[in-house]
Amino acid sequence: MNLNHTTSAAVLEELRRRPADRRRILFTGATVVTMDSGLGVLDGGDLLVEGDTITAVGPRLDAPDAVVVDATGAILAPGFVDTHRHAWEAQLRRIMPDVDDLGGYVMATLAGYATVYRPQNMYIGTRLAALTAIDSGITTMLDFSHNSRTREHSDAAVEALRDTGIRGVHAAMGPHFGDWDRQWPGDLPRLKSQYFSSDDQLLTLRLATLATDEIAGPALAYGPELARVARELGVGVSVDAVFGSASSDAVLRWAKDSILGPDVTLIHSTGLTPEAWQAMGESGTTVALAPTSDAQIGLETAIPAVDEALSAGIRPGLSIDVEVALASDMFTQMRALHAIQRMRAVNAAHGTGRQPSRITTRDVLDFATLQGARTNGLVGVTGSLTPGKKADLLVIQAEDLNNMPLNDPIGTIVLGSDARNISAVLINGETRKWNGQVLDVNLAALRGKVHASREYVLNTPAV
Ligand SMILES: [Zn+2]
Repeated sequence: MNLNHTTSAAVLEELRRRPADRRRILFTGATVVTMDSGLGVLDGGDLLVEGDTITAVGPRLDAPDAVVVDATGAILAPGFVDTHRHAWEAQLRRIMPDVDDLGGYVMATLAGYATVYRPQNMYIGTRLAALTAIDSGITTMLDFSHNSRTREHSDAAVEALRDTGIRGVHAAMGPHFGDWDRQWPGDLPRLKSQYFSSDDQLLTLRLATLATDEIAGPALAYGPELARVARELGVGVSVDAVFGSASSDAVLRWAKDSILGPDVTLIHSTGLTPEAWQAMGESGTTVALAPTSDAQIGLETAIPAVDEALSAGIRPGLSIDVEVALASDMFTQMRALHAIQRMRAVNAAHGTGRQPSRITTRDVLDFATLQGARTNGLVGVTGSLTPGKKADLLVIQAEDLNNMPLNDPIGTIVLGSDARNISAVLINGETRKWNGQVLDVNLAALRGKVHASREYVLNTPAV
């Protein structure tokens, strides 16, 4: 067994020397977890990347001129897809690890720290979040960017995604509290033409909004007016803070107004009524679960609504939400959801003689990849190792100390692995992590900027 090739500096140098559009990369001898239901898992399989696209998956592929990467002992998997994270908060990560409720988070962060953010603070938080996402195998990140106090704040957030090379979804919303330019949503057409004009690019735009007026008043609440803005721009909508009876009523209003659908994502969706779930299922609306914020911070019922979603015919995506209180990576989301759902299922069946209805590791990996892509409106682009999709993929070392010996590849990804096992990350065919290191970042310089930004935010009085 030769584990050296995916960690070889010479291979990386050769890959980066070749012009992107004519570059061919052949991964050989891997366990290929495609997450494509037609392709399944290949043992000892090859995968060919040409330019930015996966062009073939199968045994012993022939590819003259390709740079060959021996991936024996490794798993190839699609990159994870994060369906909702507030990236600008990253320099405040774990500042309130034991926050007990949404109100505590809102007052400290959205009514406090957020109000003093300058564009450069937006940039450094978003860049830090995106780099960390790549390191832990997240190749697509929806940045629910809800601190756009000026045009320049929006520009900084988008440019941080662009400069990092992640497949970024900029979901734009104005801030909840404090002084701001009130340029949202009026600035969205300008943002679209400046940064999102091509249909074939790494970055996409969505409109971000809240379910109700409970937190920040009517201006940020989803309804026919914001739906019209999104439709005129041709972008999807991500709705945060969807929980409880007020949100359930809102969902029924949206159904009546015909502003639900596959291009609308409802985030959290805890404590919703059966009638709301039925309306979501019938309209094909997508759902972004946030297992750790629901459970740990205690949103509404605190139970990630996976059973409710599946019962409505919705396979959800997963999301990280706020790093101020939660873990930054997708492994934590998968493991938390897997454990919570199975606990709930066994508990409900206990003593009844009924069989618990349990989700599997394959289910949660599907949520973290393909369903995340669908939720973010990118299922034709990413989320599985399907020929024709963009090359967003992970090389996961399955014979590292904590994973050897490889017995079940999906179990190894979901229950055994973490960022240290991801030796390489490709996004759109470009190497973003190699030999266990995130590329194209000066960590010492970044650290200095992160600390300076954190000091500014903590030491400036909220306005
Ligand atoms: Zn959120």
